[in-house]
Amino acid sequence: MPRRTRMKLARPLLRLTAAALALAAWAAPAAAQDAVLNLYSARHYQTDEALYGNFTKATGIKINRVEAGDADLLARLKAEGSASPADVIVLVDAARLWRAEQDGLFQPVKSAVLEQRIPTSLRGGAGHDGVQWFGMTTRARVLVIDKTKLKPSDVDTYEKLASPAFKGQICTRSGSHPYNLSLFGSVLESVGPVAAENWLKAVAGNLARAPKGGDTDQIRAVAAGECAVAISNSYYYARLMKSSKPEDKTVVERTQVVFPNQADRGTHVNISGAGVARHAKNREAAIKFLEYLASDSAQRMLADGNNEHPAVLSVQVDNPALLALGKFKAETVPIDKVGASTATVQQMLDRVGYK
Ligand code: FE
Repeated sequence: MPRRTRMKLARPLLRLTAAALALAAWAAPAAAQDAVLNLYSARHYQTDEALYGNFTKATGIKINRVEAGDADLLARLKAEGSASPADVIVLVDAARLWRAEQDGLFQPVKSAVLEQRIPTSLRGGAGHDGVQWFGMTTRARVLVIDKTKLKPSDVDTYEKLASPAFKGQICTRSGSHPYNLSLFGSVLESVGPVAAENWLKAVAGNLARAPKGGDTDQIRAVAAGECAVAISNSYYYARLMKSSKPEDKTVVERTQVVFPNQADRGTHVNISGAGVARHAKNREAAIKFLEYLASDSAQRMLADGNNEHPAVLSVQVDNPALLALGKFKAETVPIDKVGASTATVQQMLDRVGYK
């Protein structure tokens, strides 16, 4: 509630009789219970104020936000246990959502709205009691090439990254980062364990340098001539495309995005997603909030805030960078299978020495 409104209300309240005050105090907890929502979110973008403000405007439910990185949020939720005030948890990447599910941080939700809006392949932990987490936005894990060294057809599948031709030519962030664990998990689901491990070994052997930094650092390394191809989430490249900084423009001019596996299974797509916290005190409000996130207007804000695609397929975003990158075929591997395979992937990475 804005400060000014609260000041105006304070005066008439003083005139209430003691009896009325007692009644108000008695009635308050029931009303207050659903009037608040505690949101633990690993996403924070400029569009958040409007996103959350619109929910409060429509429902009267005030949102208290705890924002932190994914790893910190997960650690906090585990430490808080059943005393956690969290009602809704928003995390980024299937690897982390799956981890949170394994750690018992979510509870199943049955919602006709969410089942109708969010595609089956973007849901996690589905069972008789409902679904534990729902994808809210999607991002493609693309390849970024140096146009002076490669043409898109040289590396139009993830499998080609294993080619001896790319010895010392590939830049990636840590193999164990959730974005890579999920990509490798999708490869594992698609080609099977033996081929996947051989592929990982070859890719690790083709790295131009020991993995360091985030996806944007890999794109910059391509533009700087350190490597010919990098793996990156699509929104990092879109961010560079939208940047007005001369050094970013130089990066975009020298590089090109390739959506791998367009002729077969499609490009690996990951999600940011949300679920109701295991010990949510405001369960009704939490479900209402998830349903709101799946609405047309919230989907647009969520996706646009980070140059991603809406999870709800009927929603269109007018994002010039994404439009310029063009339409692509996305894989249909269920995202919770991808999440579940990441434990196996980590063991493979340890065996092949992909740090
Ligand atoms: Fe990211």
